[in-house]
Amino acid sequence: IKAIAVMTSGGDSPGMNPAVRAITRSALNQGLRVFGINRGYSGLIIGDIFELKSTHVTNIIQRGGTILKSDRCPAFKDPVVRNQAAEILKKHEIDGLIVIGGDGSLTGAHYFTQETGIPVIGLPGTIDNDIYGTDDSIGFDTVLNTALDAIDRIRDTAVSHERIFLVEVMGRNSGHIASQVGIASGAEMIIVPEVDFKLETLCFSLASHRAQSKGGSGIIVVAEGPAPGLTYRLAKQLESHGEKPGVSILGYIQRGGRPTGHDRVLASCLGASAVTYLMAGFTDIMVGVINSQITTTPLQDIVEKKKPLNPDLVELAQLLHK
Ligand code: ADP
Repeated sequence: IKAIAVMTSGGDSPGMNPAVRAITRSALNQGLRVFGINRGYSGLIIGDIFELKSTHVTNIIQRGGTILKSDRCPAFKDPVVRNQAAEILKKHEIDGLIVIGGDGSLTGAHYFTQETGIPVIGLPGTIDNDIYGTDDSIGFDTVLNTALDAIDRIRDTAVSHERIFLVEVMGRNSGHIASQVGIASGAEMIIVPEVDFKLETLCFSLASHRAQSKGGSGIIVVAEGPAPGLTYRLAKQLESHGEKPGVSILGYIQRGGRPTGHDRVLASCLGASAVTYLMAGFTDIMVGVINSQITTTPLQDIVEKKKPLNPDLVELAQLLHK
């Protein structure tokens, strides 16, 4: 391998920049040429590619988002388009690709290398932490701390006004963010798509919470879920049961911001490892971390397997309030 390319794809996450930096610097220092692809697969299919030098990644380790930009590219789901993309890489004499993104991006990466034979390594870059084959994804620790900071503030108001607040965090199909944010913020309850929940149970918990004379305040962390508006619907239902909950949707403030130290170290290690694996002839794998060890997982597994949520965390939140 003489030249590699790197892209960021799907939803941006804090830590993508340190990963791009680590890939660029470790590849350059081992004598490779490195190319950046702008806007993920959208840039790849139109050849929006430039040569990365060490100075391009100067002063980006502390910046959220991604200097390479990111995008969603429905056209890449077409095998004909993927083949054209391979031709573009060959024209630039690029013989290996590193894709930093979520499960959608890594699915595209799997089909791309299977069909074209161009070696591809994936890195888990998403705030959602819903990718099989890694304990942590790049960006998860940052979102955890950002949401936590917001909830600590909301709790001040909840306590002062003796109110219940429903706080919605990101996680369309998974409760990984909600469960960890819930534990860390001392939430009275956590509602996630993976665990059945009954309104009656919630109302009962709120009533017994008060009966234990803990005051009328509380935080319920809600994962946004697949359909928009869940948290507002929930608030309306609670109102019909005599509650007067406040609602706070944290939304996009969760996605940006300076990556935490943990995310910077994770991104640096995974980025450098991705280059090592590419140079050693590996393809069609994701590099992640399990039990503090760098691990590789076939991209096929990422496509087929769902990372399970630890249901104990959801129960633990309630247990710690009894
Ligand atoms: P994320 O990578 O954050 O999960 P998406 O699910 O939107 O984000 O996927 C990002 C991009 O990955 C898509 O816009 C598309 O270009 C590519 N992709 C997603 N799923 C597939 C698929 N099944 N086949 C090929 N490419 C895909």
